[in-house]
Order: sequence, then C-alpha cells, then structure tokens
Amino acid sequence: MALPKIEILTTGGTIAGKGESETGSSYHAGEVPGDELVRSVPGLSRVADITVREIASIPSQDMTEGVWLALLSAIREDAEKFDGFVITHGTDTMEETAYFLQLTTACKKPVVLVGAMLPSTGLSADGPRNLYNAVLTAATPDTAKQGVVVAMDNVVIGARDVFKSNTTQPETFQAMNFGKVGWIFNDKVTYEAVGLRAQLKAPFDVTKLEQLPKVGIVYNHAGVEGYQAEALVKAGYKGIVSAGVGNGNIHKAVWPVLEKAAQDGVVVVRASRVPTGSATKDAEVDDEKMHWVAAQSLNPQKARVLLQLSLTKTADWKEVQQYFDKY
Ligand code: ASP
Repeated sequence: MALPKIEILTTGGTIAGKGESETGSSYHAGEVPGDELVRSVPGLSRVADITVREIASIPSQDMTEGVWLALLSAIREDAEKFDGFVITHGTDTMEETAYFLQLTTACKKPVVLVGAMLPSTGLSADGPRNLYNAVLTAATPDTAKQGVVVAMDNVVIGARDVFKSNTTQPETFQAMNFGKVGWIFNDKVTYEAVGLRAQLKAPFDVTKLEQLPKVGIVYNHAGVEGYQAEALVKAGYKGIVSAGVGNGNIHKAVWPVLEKAAQDGVVVVRASRVPTGSATKDAEVDDEKMHWVAAQSLNPQKARVLLQLSLTKTADWKEVQQYFDKY
C-alpha cells in the first residue's frame, strides 16, 4: 500500500536548534535544515512519504505575520498534493500560529504543529520522537476532524486550548481549559474527544492580505500606569487586548484610556492573565456599557489573533463579540 504523503513545512525553533554541548542549556534555535532533521529520525520513511519545504528559519520569539501568511499560502497551494501537513515550529509562540491557522486554513487534511524543548544536539533530545509522532498524527485521517492541532510529548491538543505552561520541561504543552483530545503510543494515535469549535469552518480568508490589522496587548498589574495603553492608541493600533487580572479586571489607571479608545473606535478586548478560566461578559465589568469585548476562554495572545482577524471584517465591537462567542 502506498504511504501517506506528508509535507513538512519548516519554520525553525529549538527542534532545529544546535547547542554547544550535549548537556548544556545554551543553544541557537533554527539552525538545522529540515532534510537533516528528517534524516535524524529513525523509521520515519516507513510511516510516510515525506517532502520538506522551508518557510522560515527563525526562533519563534521572532514570529511574524509574514510567516503566518506564508504558511497559509503553502498549505493552500499544496492541499491537493498531500494527505497531511506537519509544521516544525519553536514552542514559544506555537499556540498563536496554531490558532491563526485554525481560523484561516479551511484545510480538509490534518495540520499538525510540532517542536521540541531540547535542541537537536542535546542528550535525549525530544525533537526526533516528537517529529515522528507528528508525522504519524498528520498521517492519521481522523486528525482532520480536530482542526489544527499541536502534537508534542505523546499528546494531541487542539489549537484553541493548547498553552505553553512551562519554560523548560518537555511536557510544557497543556490543554488549559478543556482537555487533551488524543494520545500517541506504539505507532498509533488514539482520539478520546473532539473540540466542537475546532470543527467550525475557518471563517477568515486572509490569503490576499499582506499584513493584518495592528493589535497590541496591555498587561495589568499592581501599580500599572496608563502609558502602555496610551502608546498603542497613539501608534494607531486598531485593537487592544487587555491582559487583565482575575476575571479580566482592568486597573483604574488603564481603564480611562481604554474607555476613550473604545469611544474613538478602537476595539478593546478584555482577556485575563490568569492561565485558566474565562474572562466572562458583564461580571465585575459592564461590557455592554463600556463597549468592550469579553475574550472568554481565550488567553491574551490568542485573543490578539482573533481580534486581528475579526478586524479584517468589522470594527463593530458587538460583531467582534460574536466572533469571540463562536470561535
Ligand atoms: N525560543 C525557542 C523558540 O520558540 C524555544 C523552543 O522552540 O522551544 O523558537
């Protein structure tokens, strides 16, 4: 039987990182070419017929919307030629890229993001096993029902819920609110659940855009001042996400800046810096009165992605709230 055809789109990250020693912690991300990565994984050629295409070679802390749009076009261009896609990516911003693709690709084939917490030259590097499992996940047709997923450390998590929870440990990716959807063991991917939102058709077609609307994040903390928010407004940002405290609460120093911003047509989204739970509508804050949008269970960095995409369609806060309610 012919093997499934899988395209690996490479962007860099620690999975392609080179370290100075096998045990030390210092390394440079994104230095090993994709072909070399594939060759370093024993048995991969028995799982799939693999093609590698380089999209970028960067540590993902430097991720840009240009790379997101290039990934999107590559998947669109190659959708008919392959049975599934694997994207190698740094772990720092993987959740943002995954959610962006979830909302934009409309690809009917599996799309799987993967990375590593240890550089490829490290002792017991996690990259080869993660890459093997990601190819297996992309070659499993049921993965397509899960929307875009991250497969790392033997588990599969949907793009909307996945969250980097630890700075250094291989089991860093967790499903913060709603749970892992599948697990990988002995050359088999087993699904136990399916995210309902993952099954919605991607609503945003941004393939023709060269850039996305500017949206920034303002972090709330004890003693914060209004300057960060003011700077974003002054720089002409079309949207601001507040990484609030608790249930998306906003400090009294930031509040008037965001109140005025909303009155002037900037769309303001209230998210929370708390890692689990939702910033709920009209709880301690009267969103209806302020014309602010409640991010609900999206963390600030993912709320930023959805706000950017929403702004390609509307600047009406009520319509933006509907996107947040649905996606
Ligand atoms: N800084 C790296 C990156 O995101 C970390 C990693 O890949 O684990 O590219």
